Amino acid sequence: MTIFLNLENVDRRLTDKIIKELEAEFFPNDNNLTNYFKIVYHESASTVEDSRLREDNRASIRGIELDEKDKQLDLVKQKVKDILVRFAIDNYVVTLDPHSLNEIVILKRSEAESTGALHCRHCGMEFEDQIQLGNHLRIHYMI
Ligand SMILES: [Zn+2]
Repeated sequence: MTIFLNLENVDRRLTDKIIKELEAEFFPNDNNLTNYFKIVYHESASTVEDSRLREDNRASIRGIELDEKDKQLDLVKQKVKDILVRFAIDNYVVTLDPHSLNEIVILKRSEAESTGALHCRHCGMEFEDQIQLGNHLRIHYMI
């Protein structure tokens, strides 16, 4: 089983930063044996042999694949959220792909909101309506 983290909607400059953080979080020492952490490119780019060219072609990154049980989906999602919160990246949210059992997507906040999902700016938690979000927001202002 694998978990796929879709980064296609992420701004190119931000992709680098996020991947670096994901590596710090998930990349195991023995990755060359386990192939646990894998960057997934679009088909067209994966045929590019020149690594420098590929480096230039960050926009062709589809996302990260982790060789992880789908049970861990929420845990991985939470860790990705923590990364966005740590870097105060509040124009993006982390959500599960409703069409897939093992896919996490980083979306622009505006895109996520257009589908009706609301995410707390402070901790990334998801809500279905403004009232729930409003109630939740209070906990951040209590202290
Ligand atoms: Zn919150």
